[in-house]
Amino acid sequence: MTRLAPSPTGALHLGNARTFLANWASARQRGWRVAMRVEDLDTPRVKPGVIGQTLDTLAWLGVDWDGDALIQSERLADHEAAMRELARRGLVYPCELTRSEIEAAASAPQEGTGEARFGPELRPVGIGPTAFESAPEGAGTNWRFATEPGEVAFDDAFAGAQRVDPAGSVGDFVVWTKRGTPAYQLAVVVDDATECVTQIVRGDDLIDSAGRQLLLYRALGLSPEPAYTHLPLVRGADGRRLAKRHGDTRIDAYRARGVPVERIVGLCAWWCGITRAREPMDAAEFRARFDLSTMPAGDVVFGAEDEAWLCDSRG
Ligand code: GLU
Repeated sequence: MTRLAPSPTGALHLGNARTFLANWASARQRGWRVAMRVEDLDTPRVKPGVIGQTLDTLAWLGVDWDGDALIQSERLADHEAAMRELARRGLVYPCELTRSEIEAAASAPQEGTGEARFGPELRPVGIGPTAFESAPEGAGTNWRFATEPGEVAFDDAFAGAQRVDPAGSVGDFVVWTKRGTPAYQLAVVVDDATECVTQIVRGDDLIDSAGRQLLLYRALGLSPEPAYTHLPLVRGADGRRLAKRHGDTRIDAYRARGVPVERIVGLCAWWCGITRAREPMDAAEFRARFDLSTMPAGDVVFGAEDEAWLCDSRG
């Protein structure tokens, strides 16, 4: 079982398209089931209609999934149960934080949003088993996970052997925010475990998060731990992660401008090493021809020629 886990920001861009297509094609080739999970807790404010729009964008690309989409915010009971378990085991503790730290904790970390390390010297002395209760919105407290020192090792199916150091890099990370909702790191682990996700394919900006997530699997006694496949990112010509500053690379924006979906998928196919030049392709062909073993290991650069090729196709 794998999952597609879009954040409903209304801004799925070409880089997201490439990762989702690669995830979906890997799954369909290997017979993994595909769950769809909309991570609406991963973004502070979700505008009405955006969840439906996100699913529609992915369906337009040609990816499909098994069963109904799961909406993360509808699963709070499971997230709370996990927190009660962590509290009972004495592994989490309440902690006062600033607003910006809370925002950072709720979202999947992205490159350049560098989290401050919260070292053990900041942890209250003698934390032990306690009761967790999520206070009403606005009046809550953040909870942090007491991160023991030590590296976390895992074999990534694309990026190779990894060793990450959660205690040394971020320290005691937030697992429950003052808003009364789980932080990204906890929500993703609880949802993946509940949905029996065994294969996680996503952008390699989340490779450090995998270490934190494995610590939570272990702390909660969840098994099996998932296998990870972290894929390189699409960047702008300036080397930075694809974002608004590189122009409007939202899938929806190209769609609205009349760019055929075969151009979007074809560009992703070229970026995945499926073809030697940009050529239109539909999702079915992408699925048949995708090969993780020949995907380029480096980041891909989205440049003016790509934009011109996409837009030449109009009319
Ligand atoms: N919703 C997250 C994102 O779009 C993905 C999290 C994950 O795959 O673990 O960045």
